[in-house]
Amino acid sequence: MMDLKGKKVLVVGLGKSGLAAALFLRRQGAQVTVSDVRSADALAKDIPALLEEGINVEAGGHGLLTFRRQDLIVISPGVPLDTPELVQARNFGRPIIGELELAARYLQGKILAITGSNGKTTTTSLVGEILERAGLPTLVGGNIGVPVIDLIPDSTPDTWSVLEVSSFQLESTEQFHPAISVILNITPDHLDRHGTFENYALAKERIFAAQTEEDYVVLNADNVRAAHAAEHAKARVYWFSLDRSVPQGAWVEQGQVVFRVAKDAPVEGILPLSSIPLKGEHNVENVLAAVCAGRLAGASARAAREAIEKFRAVEHRLEYVATINGVEFYNDSKATNVDATAKAIAAFSGGIHLILGGKDKNSDYTQLSQLLRERVHAVYTIGSAAAKIESHLRGVVSLHSCETLAKAVNAAASAAHPGDVVLLAPACSSFDQFDSYEHRGHVFKQLVSDWRGLSGLPAVVARIHSV
Ligand code: ADP
Repeated sequence: MMDLKGKKVLVVGLGKSGLAAALFLRRQGAQVTVSDVRSADALAKDIPALLEEGINVEAGGHGLLTFRRQDLIVISPGVPLDTPELVQARNFGRPIIGELELAARYLQGKILAITGSNGKTTTTSLVGEILERAGLPTLVGGNIGVPVIDLIPDSTPDTWSVLEVSSFQLESTEQFHPAISVILNITPDHLDRHGTFENYALAKERIFAAQTEEDYVVLNADNVRAAHAAEHAKARVYWFSLDRSVPQGAWVEQGQVVFRVAKDAPVEGILPLSSIPLKGEHNVENVLAAVCAGRLAGASARAAREAIEKFRAVEHRLEYVATINGVEFYNDSKATNVDATAKAIAAFSGGIHLILGGKDKNSDYTQLSQLLRERVHAVYTIGSAAAKIESHLRGVVSLHSCETLAKAVNAAASAAHPGDVVLLAPACSSFDQFDSYEHRGHVFKQLVSDWRGLSGLPAVVARIHSV
């Protein structure tokens, strides 16, 4: 642990975790400055609380001198490491760490950290529930909502901190040391920030960089790049697989989730697939990973089973919204990359009306072609990525340019027949038209609910159609 008393510390980026870091550092007695490129107006709601605590605020840009004067720089996950002021500060020998690294240095107890391109939030919630059900002192945080820093006051030497960690957070770790780490999958995402797929994969592998032979790493045997990570890990490797048995870990056998702790140990039945209350094979993968991590942390098979049976989809993750005139509506606003969208499509057997688009992340939408041909009736495009998506998918599937989510919901819902599915799984981030994926998901649910109102009144619908 560092002594922060009187130290000059700069926090770069005033998001949720930046704010939590600034307040924490101040309480440790540091002289804290916060710097954000957003204007003072945009930061207005947080500034008074910071000033009251005696924290300096620099808004509307970064001052080079501000960066040079510091004993320590703490960066928020949204801030790229190659920001020019950071590069300069590094050249001047200023130590730079992320909020996750800072927090982990003060957190008591053990860390169980989960990363992956998709499934982190779902799996982190599952593991949290399993450990809690097992009676283990459990805290859940990270990317999932509560900044890791805010878990510190509640942590004790017996605590398991179950943390969802992103590649952005892992990029700036040094000593971050989970007792159990999980890599769910590595598929292309965030190439706009990481540059290449390999850089992105290497950022994910940082989750086990500080682990030793005493620790565990749980990897997806079915995902080529995640499985390859085993070659770089010092920790004991456990596997999960949908397709085959593994030497140690969790897999599916005769319609059951099973686990074994060692190659020569007995195979334990955990629960039948039919008892998993989540849609899609990708969620079976999440369950397998959670069972494996939970058992390694000391939860019983029974605790795992009971927690999974009670679990409900996290909001915006293939979340069931409504059935209207026999058409099902699903909100998967969190499907912000091509792989998540592919998994969402694969969760339905056909008749899908798919809403795609938003802000492009340098993605290749042609990867969806086969699934679209097999299961998707029509695609409704929205947002700034629409033209690119349409050029990638022309000739593959029927395309409708809708520009906005409101038009897309109307068009899809009007075209859908009983038994069909209207699915928002946009494969893009939301920032061109919405504040966040949550905002996009809420708007979608509101539009569906408005549609329900309309469809309950056939006269009104008839009038609208005749306009
Ligand atoms: P993350 O926190 O990694 O973004 P979430 O649990 O929030 O993960 O899910 C993100 C998106 O990915 C959702 O659209 C969800 O339906 C989908 N998804 C969840 N688990 C997986 C998985 N194991 N593989 C692929 N897609 C997944």
